[in-house]
Amino acid sequence: MADFTIEYPGTLAEALSFLDPDDPSVRPVGGGTALMLMMKSQMFHPTRLVCLSRLSEPMTGCREDGDHIRIGAMTTLSQVEHSALIAAEFPVIHNAMKNLANVRVRNVATIGGNLAHGDPHLDLPPIWAALGAEAIIHGPSGQRSVKVEDLFQGYYETDVADGELITEIRVPRLPGWRATYRKVTTRALHDWPAIGLTLAARFDGDRIADIRLVLSAAVDIPQRLRGAEEVLRGHRPDAMLLARAGDSAAAEAPMEHDSRGSVDYKVHLLKVHILRGMNEIGKG
Ligand SMILES: Cc1cc2nc3c(=O)[nH]c(=O)nc-3n(C[C@H](O)[C@H](O)[C@H](O)COP(=O)(O)OP(=O)(O)OC[C@H]3O[C@@H](n4cnc5c(N)ncnc54)[C@H](O)[C@@H]3O)c2cc1C
Repeated sequence: MADFTIEYPGTLAEALSFLDPDDPSVRPVGGGTALMLMMKSQMFHPTRLVCLSRLSEPMTGCREDGDHIRIGAMTTLSQVEHSALIAAEFPVIHNAMKNLANVRVRNVATIGGNLAHGDPHLDLPPIWAALGAEAIIHGPSGQRSVKVEDLFQGYYETDVADGELITEIRVPRLPGWRATYRKVTTRALHDWPAIGLTLAARFDGDRIADIRLVLSAAVDIPQRLRGAEEVLRGHRPDAMLLARAGDSAAAEAPMEHDSRGSVDYKVHLLKVHILRGMNEIGKG
């Protein structure tokens, strides 16, 4: 392995100064769980790593801020898993942690690294997208925010430029919404899913007032299934309507076959889990 340097900046400004907008071999390190695997497998050869673990800015923790919950980018997945605030506000996130990797990974991996990695198989990004969360990004020209739904540009590609850092995720409180994440694995539960499906909905009586469906794992980027949402919005989710939504979702999702299943198999899973997911959140 070629030599590289590791920097431990003390402030956000210093961290940004160590990054290089023109050099993708200079990378920030959150927990390092994905980065180290890419380095070990020779997929990534850094020239400089910028470790974010010693920043003086409060980039860890989950806190309330009016009608939003803010989560610092350096908050570990375990901290989110054990946060009473997250369990109360977003039980779907709390529940997803039970089958996400293992405790050793969750103790180290960070919310920011998880989002910036851009791997479409990851469990949390599609859930953040369905919850309407936004990523707060700092770079040489200041701060901007991007909806998580719009953050992913392609397979392992995100809107976060070289030279920029995700500093926080901001999630709107969603009173009256119910959500579930269905991680459909073909072997062990903590495995990479054949499909991931997040359903988040608000009901008005027995009708779906609003809904967001996000498909992941079988597609290059977490994808809203807007056609299926349109089929469901405003209606009572009976078996016929859910079957129509499943057909619409299958038609709009460009799924790919891989070691976890054929396209036909994944289409079948998608339809089944739209039905099961809606039954789950419909019961309240
Ligand atoms: C054994 C194992 C099992 C796993 N199983 C699962 C699973 O079941 N489900 C699942 O969802 N995931 C799983 N993962 C993936 C895991 O969730 C990711 O590796 C982890 O979330 C990445 O976070 P990190 O902080 O370690 O990122 P890092 O490895 O530090 O960084 C990943 C990428 O993000 C960049 N980056 C890091 N922080 C920032 C930031 N603040 N701003 C901008 N860019 C940044 C890095 O430069 C790098 O490109 C597994 C990983 C392992 C090793």
